[in-house]
Amino acid sequence: MGMESRFVEKLTEDTVRCTICPRMCTVKPGGKGFCGTKENVDGKLLSLTYGQLSALAVDPIEKKPLAHFHPGSMSLSVSSVGCSFTCPWCQNYHMSMSNLEQSRTRFMHPEEVVKAAMAQECASVSYTYNEPLINLNFVEDTARFAHESEIKNVLVTNGYVSIPALERVVDVIDAANVDWKAFNQEFYRKYCSGELQSVLDATEHMKQNGVHVEVTFLVIPETNDSPDETREMARYIVEHLGPETPLHLSRFFPMYKFQHVPPTPVETLVRAREIAMEEGVRYVFVGNVRSGGYEDTVCHVCGKPVISRSGYTITGWYLDEEKRCVHCGSQIPVVGRREFHRENYVL
Ligand code: SF4
Repeated sequence: MGMESRFVEKLTEDTVRCTICPRMCTVKPGGKGFCGTKENVDGKLLSLTYGQLSALAVDPIEKKPLAHFHPGSMSLSVSSVGCSFTCPWCQNYHMSMSNLEQSRTRFMHPEEVVKAAMAQECASVSYTYNEPLINLNFVEDTARFAHESEIKNVLVTNGYVSIPALERVVDVIDAANVDWKAFNQEFYRKYCSGELQSVLDATEHMKQNGVHVEVTFLVIPETNDSPDETREMARYIVEHLGPETPLHLSRFFPMYKFQHVPPTPVETLVRAREIAMEEGVRYVFVGNVRSGGYEDTVCHVCGKPVISRSGYTITGWYLDEEKRCVHCGSQIPVVGRREFHRENYVL
């Protein structure tokens, strides 16, 4: 079962190295890589999760979250199992910390995925829920079929990917929400078994290659919520990704192995938003908090809402045809036009 991985180096006659993520697992015959989705069978590295979908759903693009990419459109979300990280607060741990033996999956060919997206009038396919980059053969094949049908491709990712692997697929990725877990290396090693710098490099590489990038940061009490860390991250975004890069500060709720940690106080999130904006990030959203207007896109010049939202729904649109603020005329960097979706989706 599985497809031979394209992201591989032969080390000896029967030992191979997976080159998808910076972990660069050496896999001996009969062994698997860290994420559990790559297996060495007779000296060949197989991608076990190719086409094996753990979930198929239609989501508003705002749920990814992407605030400035085809607002109001729907996206076909596809996921499999496994992850390259070990975050103990994972919201999708039943998929990300699972493997094929423990999960119910169904096979879908990339072409079928794209047909489903078209049938559901989705503007994009989102590779999401579990870490999609570990399933890069499948992402690449589906994304190429999608582009042939003028469907966009969205990655919802931890950004832990090697630059050569990313280079192979970046031309067919239209947008990415990259989940930065913290802005300190020690945290990445302790909780995620990963490396911050690799994530930053991959995020910047996407941006430089024309991908619409938005960053999510889950603010966890007494773990990654210090004002200094937020400030440092905001400076990095402005310098390396640009001040127009949307930043989603997300509220933590107890989950998985982090049941003992309380929800993030709303004041912490509001203060983090202020700090990020002080440092020059223009569009900062607070996720999982339904009041206060923190889900709105606010014009960076006049301070008035230009896209109002309630949850994942757009409730007000104050941009002209050229996507300028109707109040002051400032250009707002939104990709695509506002889209409207139908009410019912059946998969
Ligand atoms: S994708 Fe999986 S097998 Fe490949 S290097 Fe990363 S963790 Fe290892």
